[in-house]
Amino acid sequence: MTKDQDMIDLFVIGGGINGAGVARDAAGRGLKVVLCEKDDLAQGTSSRSGKLVHGGLRYLEYYEFRLVREALIEREVLLNAAPHIIWPMRFVLPHSPQDRPAWLVRLGLFLYDHLGGRKKLPGTRTLDLRRDPEGAPLLDQYVKGFEYSDCWVDDARLVVLNALDAAERGAEVLTRSPCISARRENGAWTVETRNEITGEIRSFRARCIVNCAGPWVSDVIGRVAGSHSSRNVRLVKGSHIIVPKWWAGSNAYLVQNHDKRVIFINPYEGDKALIGTTDIAYQGRAEDVTADETEIDYLLAAVNRYFKEKLRREDVLHSFSGVRPLFDDGKGNPSAVTRDYVFDLDQTGGAPLLNVFGGKITTFRELAERGMHRLREIFPAMGPDWTETAPLPGGDMANADYESFAELLRELHPWMPRPLVQHYGRLYGTRTRDVVAGALSLQGLGRHFGGNLYEAEVRYLVAREWALRPDDILYRRTKHYLHLTEDQRREFAEWFDRSDLAQAA
Ligand SMILES: Cc1cc2nc3c(=O)[nH]c(=O)nc-3n(C[C@H](O)[C@H](O)[C@H](O)COP(=O)(O)OP(=O)(O)OC[C@H]3O[C@@H](n4cnc5c(N)ncnc54)[C@H](O)[C@@H]3O)c2cc1C
Repeated sequence: MTKDQDMIDLFVIGGGINGAGVARDAAGRGLKVVLCEKDDLAQGTSSRSGKLVHGGLRYLEYYEFRLVREALIEREVLLNAAPHIIWPMRFVLPHSPQDRPAWLVRLGLFLYDHLGGRKKLPGTRTLDLRRDPEGAPLLDQYVKGFEYSDCWVDDARLVVLNALDAAERGAEVLTRSPCISARRENGAWTVETRNEITGEIRSFRARCIVNCAGPWVSDVIGRVAGSHSSRNVRLVKGSHIIVPKWWAGSNAYLVQNHDKRVIFINPYEGDKALIGTTDIAYQGRAEDVTADETEIDYLLAAVNRYFKEKLRREDVLHSFSGVRPLFDDGKGNPSAVTRDYVFDLDQTGGAPLLNVFGGKITTFRELAERGMHRLREIFPAMGPDWTETAPLPGGDMANADYESFAELLRELHPWMPRPLVQHYGRLYGTRTRDVVAGALSLQGLGRHFGGNLYEAEVRYLVAREWALRPDDILYRRTKHYLHLTEDQRREFAEWFDRSDLAQAA
């Protein structure tokens, strides 16, 4: 067992978006921080979301005006911080008279446009679906529609960039290292982690713990920390399917289903579409969640109600599912449970435990900032708020928009095929130079595994972004899994496992 008994300030449990965001915020305030994640970064819910930085149009129906306003404001804050992995998207909402009246939808969109200090994103427009090109793929019965703005985000990369920023500001980030116990001793915490690869147990002394374990928040409170909370988490499963994209524009669609739920149909990874989601109460282990056939049928049916082109089961290339760790506000209907977050600060014995319930990808930065406010009395000397105007790694484009930056990248690397420059630019932004690492030709990027995957990127991800296994690279740091054949994925995994990279891990 290794002893790391120097006192740290904050021990953060959970390397999803909230844990990574809290670790980043705290490290930037000068606190000594350790973040531990039991699996890979973002392997929990934070790589399985709908990938939208959005106010949440539908939450207006539940009168969640404050939540919507705050999330709308956050859209542009995050867009400025990470313009490589977050970008504006237009959503076409065909009006279906059987579901909600047009005036109600228009009113909702009016509020959506005006609640949240929108500066960069264009506002709503009304569409004539018989004339406007966005209507072309839709069935003729849909004649009126609306188009509004929200933002797209690469959720798993958002987590990694927060962890990277935290580490560059002094935090220690441990992956594949569950927190196995936390005990209060003499006004502080003794925390143990076990490295799942090496078996090493590490022990830390920490003044405070922040529990960002998402769907596992109650497990950490009870089993790990031997504590309790009056708050509860409500686990609600949501699934997505990926199919080949079948419409021409870069816009997304949002359709209303008969059950009043809305389904997103978003362009994804160039030639694909991401369709979701469902809302189903979930009782199993969060690790085991998968999309079941009834959910897939439900999503296909909702889409087929609107489009001329009919999707069939065999069009589904992939599916994935995640568990929302919602704060249990006692509402019966899973769709109605609040998407807001709640803190529970337990100060027993002078060793604080800050438990986080709920939260969205969109609100992680604000959640982290407010979480630190709750700890102000414990760390009176910590630095001020700073994340609202700070870029995330790779997002420091000196106020240039992403397109100007991408143009510059193409000029700097004239030998690179366009899709490859586009891939690096979107994933790594200004850090592309570290990925390319001085290469002057495709050969200089090392072995090619298919699609846009070259050895140089793999080496970067292992050296800088805590990638330890082939799946960390194919599914979370990147989405290469969608662009490689099964054989290519297998060959990559075999190469990785034989390489010096796997030995280093
Ligand atoms: C289907 C679906 C669609 C969604 N769509 C959107 C969307 O479009 N926009 C949006 O803003 N939000 C969306 N959300 C919500 C958002 O994804 C979640 O609120 C968010 O990812 C939760 O992050 P988290 O950090 O709290 O939890 P997680 O990402 O689950 O992170 C918790 C982490 O804690 C780790 N952990 C657990 N126990 C331990 C332990 N003992 N030691 C160490 N680590 C531990 C887990 O492995 C996990 O990685 C969606 C959610 C779902 C399910």
